[in-house]
Amino acid sequence: MIAPRLELSNVTRTYRSGNETVMALDGVSLVIEPGELVAIVGASGSGKSTLMNILGCLDRSDRGHYRVDGIDVSTLDADGLAHLRRDRFGFVFQRYHLVNALSIAGNVELPGIYAGMPAARRRERAARLVEQLGLADKLPFRPNELSGGQQQRIAIARALMNDAGVVLADEPTGALDRRSGDLVLSVLKDLHEQGRTVIIVTHDHDVASHAGRIIEIADGAIISDTRLSAARKNTAASGVATVASRSARASISSLTSAFGMSFKAMAAQKLRTGLTMLGIVIGITAVVAVIGLGEGARIQVMNQLAGLGTNTLVIYPGRSFGDADASKIVSMTTSDVDALAAQFYVDSATPEILTSQKARSGARALDLQVSGVGPSYFRANGLKLISGRLLTQEDLVDAYANIVLSELAASSLFGSAEAVGQQVLLGKTPATVIGVAALPDVRGRAASAYMTHTALRARLSGTLPLTNITLRVRDGIDTNLAERAASNLLQRRHGVKDFFIINNDQIRRSTERTMATFSLLIAALATVALVVGGIGVMNIMLISVTERTREIGLRMALGARQRDIMAQFMIEAVAVCLVGGGLGVALAIALSFVSNALVLPLPILLSAGAVLLAAGFTLLIGLAFGYLPARGAARLDPVRALASE
Ligand code: ADP
Ligand code: MG
Repeated sequence: MIAPRLELSNVTRTYRSGNETVMALDGVSLVIEPGELVAIVGASGSGKSTLMNILGCLDRSDRGHYRVDGIDVSTLDADGLAHLRRDRFGFVFQRYHLVNALSIAGNVELPGIYAGMPAARRRERAARLVEQLGLADKLPFRPNELSGGQQQRIAIARALMNDAGVVLADEPTGALDRRSGDLVLSVLKDLHEQGRTVIIVTHDHDVASHAGRIIEIADGAIISDTRLSAARKNTAASGVATVASRSARASISSLTSAFGMSFKAMAAQKLRTGLTMLGIVIGITAVVAVIGLGEGARIQVMNQLAGLGTNTLVIYPGRSFGDADASKIVSMTTSDVDALAAQFYVDSATPEILTSQKARSGARALDLQVSGVGPSYFRANGLKLISGRLLTQEDLVDAYANIVLSELAASSLFGSAEAVGQQVLLGKTPATVIGVAALPDVRGRAASAYMTHTALRARLSGTLPLTNITLRVRDGIDTNLAERAASNLLQRRHGVKDFFIINNDQIRRSTERTMATFSLLIAALATVALVVGGIGVMNIMLISVTERTREIGLRMALGARQRDIMAQFMIEAVAVCLVGGGLGVALAIALSFVSNALVLPLPILLSAGAVLLAAGFTLLIGLAFGYLPARGAARLDPVRALASE
């Protein structure tokens, strides 16, 4: 406990209300020695509270100087004043100013939180102080469960939490009955006995008569200053004051207390907090689910695109897909394929002739789609060999009856047995399975067989025209240029343009562009949902700050710095958002399970990335939308805030 020497010289404080100026203090000079018990008396409106607020560093003078242990407080910033309040002064107010959302223990501990006192020591000290005032059994109660006199004694315990050297009591008995008032006064006298400076504002002359010194004020000026007894001499600083230990542990402890307080504040307004949270829950669910939907759609489209192969051009007869005359066009021949294959921009060219055949192996039979292709077909179309081998140039030249089966065809014809080396009857033609290949896309579910186009022509059907020609463009050559060159070549050979070319890269690129636009749209919608949620949070924080203005003033009086208040409200906003965000993610996960269980056409694919993004977003929203209300709270004037209703 350190009781400083307080020295006012010529202090003036004016208030402006409307266009009137009220001079609440008019050139007050006064020295209060450590250990004095001072009673300040005077009519209502004479300036007593203004004087107390300046003495306690809650307010500043307009003119004149106030020195605390020789330090001129006008040289201190808001945080400097907060430090002084925290470590040197303990306030006791007429209306107790206890926080109803906190227990008695929580209220008494408050100044310790701002002093960075470790939680265990805080709890123990609060319990001891409350016990000394005879209210140990009230620790878990709420303030409104106590009588006025009991509440005022709790307020005194709170004032002593940081071992204040100066106790300032502004009409502490004004709202109490005689008996409770006497009890409170005797407690204050005890504090004086212990060597503290005690300054009491009172109307009660009986109280004043106990004081060692009575100062009478009228119209903002001291009209009498009577010393009845000398200041107590046992004022040597006993022990070290509970000055903040700003260690990392203390910071963590104060952060956890801040989170604890914010959850208490949320719990005190369950419905309101719940509704605000609902906005965030909906926003985050929308974001996560919509990202999941986009991801599901993207993977579906990508799977389909994977089947297109890269760097490939596919040439079909006719003007476009669905051309009714296409089947009559037979001008596309294998010599076209050879001519194309000889071009420098072509990596490989392969025709495809499609037909279907009944396939048989022992007792098993199956309708097979049979493709007559060249050896480069597999590479151009992205098929992967699973077992055996693929078709070769030799197969092509000699028109061997060798076939490669798709996975489905192999398993349908041979079950789990090894297909490679087995015989299959295609219609009446026997063929040997030389390999099994995986199709890269949704067509993977098709039962297909591949043989060389020479074999297909020689053994199955000699008259079928080419269904298409697939070109793989040489690496490093622009597919658009290759497309134009191939088109010119074929047109020259046929004399007319009786074909069309599908450029897979173009399809892929335009599909990817469409997907990107789609994702952007989705992201925009989700952002709107989140911003709406965030505005809800901001609104509720603004209301909360307005409602709790008095509490903010109180916290400042107890030593909270601006950044403590700021942190408290930011943490409240962030906590609401994080809890809401957590619920939103949970809801989105539930939705994805439902969508998977119902096998909806568009699945919701949740990724850790989307969840992390959502978490980041909620944090950001809490910070962004909590900032303004929190700053508003931090910038409140402590005296005005305390006086607010
Ligand atoms: P007391 O505590 O002795 O009743 P105060 O110190 O509260 O008196 O007030 C002194 C004078 O200053 C009064 O005339 C009061 O109306 C005026 N006053 C106090 N606070 C304000 C304020 N925030 N704005 C305008 N006038 C104020
Ligand atoms: Mg007053």
